[in-house]
Amino acid sequence: MNLKGKAAVVCGGGGFIGGYLVKSLLANGVNVIRSVDVKPLDQWYQVTPGVENVVADLKDKDSCYRAADGAEVVFQLAADMGGMGFIESNKALCMLSVLINTHMLLAARDSGVERFFYSSSACVYNGEKQKDACVIPLKEADAYPALPEDGYGWEKLFSERMCRHFEEDFGMQCRVARYHNVYGPFGTWTGGREKAPAAICRKVLEAKLSGRHEIEIWGDGHQTRSFMYIDDCTKGTLAIMESEIHEPLNLGSNQLVTINQLVDIVENIAGVKLKRRYKVDAPKGVNGRNSDNTRILEHLGWEPSIRLRDGLEKTYEWIQKEMLTLAHV
Ligand code: NAD
Repeated sequence: MNLKGKAAVVCGGGGFIGGYLVKSLLANGVNVIRSVDVKPLDQWYQVTPGVENVVADLKDKDSCYRAADGAEVVFQLAADMGGMGFIESNKALCMLSVLINTHMLLAARDSGVERFFYSSSACVYNGEKQKDACVIPLKEADAYPALPEDGYGWEKLFSERMCRHFEEDFGMQCRVARYHNVYGPFGTWTGGREKAPAAICRKVLEAKLSGRHEIEIWGDGHQTRSFMYIDDCTKGTLAIMESEIHEPLNLGSNQLVTINQLVDIVENIAGVKLKRRYKVDAPKGVNGRNSDNTRILEHLGWEPSIRLRDGLEKTYEWIQKEMLTLAHV
């Protein structure tokens, strides 16, 4: 499918990835008719003029039908989510996103939407395969037998399968990306839902600005992850949506780092060296997780292009500006 000229709706457009996606779709000639999010407009990370920006709760079925009206393609990114600190202690809230996915799929089917994109997550992968920090990169097949992250991961896996069965039973074309840790400016950096890259940038900045040169790290710092910069994520999302790949695809970086190495990079950007305190009983997720990009590279020629340090520099600078603006309000 060529997305150019298609009437698109972005659900979760007030969020981090959704905000960028609206802009990226427009830049690629897609006719974004609507962006929908439950947050009040002044809390959206990016509001794009020329698009109908709608505040609505997509757990509600009627709101979904209004959202899908006139759309040829739907990008479904709305979800109640956050970093490990949030998802480990809000499992029911995370699972309630199933209402958004169920109602949006029904609305898309009944409104004659041609194609539906669903943003799944690396949290669908079997926990048994992520016990070691020196993890073998996760292949798409590693989601089964199912033992995903409790709450959030189960909901994502269930909704992936719902997409699959809407395609098999109703002919609703669905494309699914399994995002692995996306980061960048204009995302959550404080308040409890932030993920590791933004949280570490904020903590390093707090230490630097306060002169108290120490940092609290969740876990022992040896846990490993990969982090994908937002521009790579939006490019991959468009490629997956345009593709003829019907099964979920990994969309993530395969540059594995420990949390300690992530802190090293941010300290280096900030020009400080901090005393590290490890909070080993804090939520830290699995010991190791990396993305195997064999399939997406082979089928779509996509691979991450932005180096972790470069992306973190941009993220750090944006969070610094946000913190300084808040301090002067
Ligand atoms: P985000 O929290 O910034 O964006 C999600 C948006 O959905 C928020 O703005 C939120 O207000 C909105 N939303 C929540 N409930 C809603 C409702 N009932 N009705 C309408 N809108 C609602 O998160 P993000 O990082 O932009 O993530 C986007 C999608 O990608 C999510 O589905 C998330 O699960 C998935 N994902 C993200 C990552 C990541 O690293 N950021 C990793 C894996 C998967």
